[in-house]
Amino acid sequence: MHVGGWNLFFLIAFIVYVSIRGIFDRQTKNVEKVITRVDTLERVLLTTVGVASILLPLLYLFTPWLAFADYRRREFVPWCGAPILVGALGLFWRSHADLGQNWSISLELRKGHQLVTHGVYGPVRHPMYAAILLWDVGQGLLIENWLAGWSALVTFVVMCVLRIPREEQMMCASFGDAYHVYMRKTGRLFPRLR
Ligand code: SAH
Repeated sequence: MHVGGWNLFFLIAFIVYVSIRGIFDRQTKNVEKVITRVDTLERVLLTTVGVASILLPLLYLFTPWLAFADYRRREFVPWCGAPILVGALGLFWRSHADLGQNWSISLELRKGHQLVTHGVYGPVRHPMYAAILLWDVGQGLLIENWLAGWSALVTFVVMCVLRIPREEQMMCASFGDAYHVYMRKTGRLFPRLR
C-alpha cells in the first residue's frame, strides 16, 4: 500500500473527482438520448482512458503490482502538482454544473438538448476536457510511477485529438449556424487571445 503523504492527498482528490462525475451522472441518467455516435473507436477510447485514469492509480495505491515502474521525483514536484489538481477539480465541477442535463460521457445528444454558451463555456468549447487534461498533469506530478502517473495524460491527449473534431461535427450537424457562430467566438481548450 502506498497510501500516505502525497498519495493520500491524491486519493482524497481522486474521491472528489469521481464523486463529481457520480453526482452529475445520476442527474442526467433519466434524460433520454436521442442521438448517439458511440462506435467501436469511441468504446476503445473510453475503455483505455478509464483504465489509465481510474484502474492504474488504484492499482498503484493499493497493490505492489506496478512497483516496477516506480521512480523518485524532486521534492518540489508534488507542490506544483497539488494546486494543478485542485484547479482541475474546480473547473471540472464548474463545467459539469454549466452543462447540466446536457452532459453525457460519450458522443450523444439528449432529448431537449440545449447549446450551452455561458459560464466556463463562454470562452472555451471544451472546458471539461481542459479540466481533465489539467487533472492528468497533476496526477503525473503527484504519483511517483511512470505508468500510473502519466498514462492518463497520454491516453486522454489521444482521445482529445480523435474525439473533439467528431464532437464538433456532431454539434454542427445538430445546432447548425448557432454552433458555427459559437466556434468563431471561442477557443477549443484555451480562450482566444483576440
Ligand atoms: N466537450 C465538452 C463537453 C464534454 S461532455 C467539454 O469538454 O466541456 C460531451 C457531451 O457534451 C457531448 O456528447 C455533447 O452532447 C455535449 N456538449 C458538448 N459541448 C456542448 C455545448 N457547448 N452545449 C451543450 N452540449 C454540449
